[in-house]
Amino acid sequence: MTTKRPRRYEPWTNERLDNILKDRSLKRAGEVTYWNKKVLIHCEECGNDFEALPQNLERGSGCPHCYLKKKTGAKRKPKWSLKEVREFAKENGYTLLDDEYINNKFPLRFIDDNTGAEVVMTFRTLQARVKSQKIKEKIDDNQ
Ligand SMILES: [Zn+2]
Repeated sequence: MTTKRPRRYEPWTNERLDNILKDRSLKRAGEVTYWNKKVLIHCEECGNDFEALPQNLERGSGCPHCYLKKKTGAKRKPKWSLKEVREFAKENGYTLLDDEYINNKFPLRFIDDNTGAEVVMTFRTLQARVKSQKIKEKIDDNQ
């Protein structure tokens, strides 16, 4: 009688993991050792490294950095850095309270320097406000 080893006991090897990742934008950056030991994975989409269990990758879990970005609706690197957003806001009378900038559609908290009131708006809204304010000033100058 031949006993076939059940599939779930198939050992985890570098080859087995590479095979799972071959059609995804993930590359194995560490060695597969034991089924419950995390392996270092490099994400080619965002350039970050993360550790994951081979079995979780097999089930379809992916890069946590990309997951977070997708969840917040950011598809690519934002045009503005947090520092630039903060400086732009300050120049136009707002103090940025948040420490993270994801994209111009993501709500941010500001303090209106004139009134001291907290304002929640996207960076896009702030840009639009500044733009309309500048147009208004121009009209006032011409009068
Ligand atoms: Zn990623």
